[in-house]
Amino acid sequence: MNIVALSRELELPAFEKGSVWLAGAGPGDPGLITVLGLHALKRADVVLYDALVNEALLKLVRPGAELVYAGKRAGVKSCRQSDISRTLVSLARKGKRVLRLKGGDPFVFGRGAEEALTLAEAGIPFRIVPGVTAGIGGLACANIPVTHRDTNHAVTFVTGHGADGKLPDLDWSAIARGAPTLVFYMAKGFAGEIAAKLIDAGRHADEPAAVVSNASLPSQEVRVTTLSKLGEAAAETATPAMLVIGENVNLRGALAQPGTKQYSSLSPLASLKNTA
Ligand code: SAH
Repeated sequence: MNIVALSRELELPAFEKGSVWLAGAGPGDPGLITVLGLHALKRADVVLYDALVNEALLKLVRPGAELVYAGKRAGVKSCRQSDISRTLVSLARKGKRVLRLKGGDPFVFGRGAEEALTLAEAGIPFRIVPGVTAGIGGLACANIPVTHRDTNHAVTFVTGHGADGKLPDLDWSAIARGAPTLVFYMAKGFAGEIAAKLIDAGRHADEPAAVVSNASLPSQEVRVTTLSKLGEAAAETATPAMLVIGENVNLRGALAQPGTKQYSSLSPLASLKNTA
C-alpha cells in the first residue's frame, strides 16, 4: 500500500493550503517518523527543516516542493528563531502548505512551542504532529529503557542549554533528589559540570551513566560510564548526544543481542530478568 492509499485508509486529515504543520522527524533513523509526518511530507509545498532531520526523508517530498534549511546548531552560524517563525507565517499567508520538520518531537527542547505560539498569535491554522524524542526513543535504540519498575518510577528531562547558551540555573539539589533517572539534552559540553553538581547534591559518584550519540543511526555510539567520569566520556563522544544517569543504564547489557544491529529498537523484553 502506498502512502496516499494508507492516508486514505487511516482517514488522515487533509493538509490544507495556508496552514502550517509542525512535525517531529524522530531522532535520526528515517523509519522513526510517524505516518502523519510522512503524510505531511508527501503533500507539503514547502518544508523548513532542521539540522538533525535525516536527509533521506527530504528526498520523499513531492516533485516541485521547496526545501528550506532552517537549522540551528551550537557554534554554527544559523537562522534566527524570529526569522524562522516569520517565514512560517509569511509562507502560510501566501497559501502554501508549510511543513516545519524538526528533529525528535517538536515540543521537546526544540523551540516548537515558540513557533506554534507565533502561528497562534498570527491566526495561522496549524497542527502539531508529535515525534519520537531522542530522550525516550533514542535511548530505546541504545537499549536503555527510560523506565523499568525495578529501577525507576520517575524520570526527569533536562536541557543543558539555556536561552543564553549556558547551563540553565536549576535547582540541582531538587534534580538530584527528584527522580532516580535523569536524561539531559544539549548537555555534552556541560557533562563534567553537571556530574559535579549532582554529586555535590548527593548523587553517588559510582552510579551508572551513559552518553549516547547519533541514537538510532548506524553511527550510533554508546559510552557506558559512571557519574564521576561522565565529563570524560562526553568529551570523547560525537554530537548530537544525550546524557543519561541512573540504574536503568545497566539494563543495556541484558538487552544486547548478538548478531543484531546495536541500534535496532526490536530488542525482545523477554531477555530481561526479574520483570515479574
Ligand atoms: N526536539 C528534539 C530535541 C532537540 S534539542 C527531540 O525531541 O529529540 C537537540 C538535542 O537533542 C541534541 O543536542 C541532543 O542532546 C538530542 N538529540 C537529538 N537527536 C539525537 C540523537 N540522534 N542522538 C543523541 N542525541 C540526540
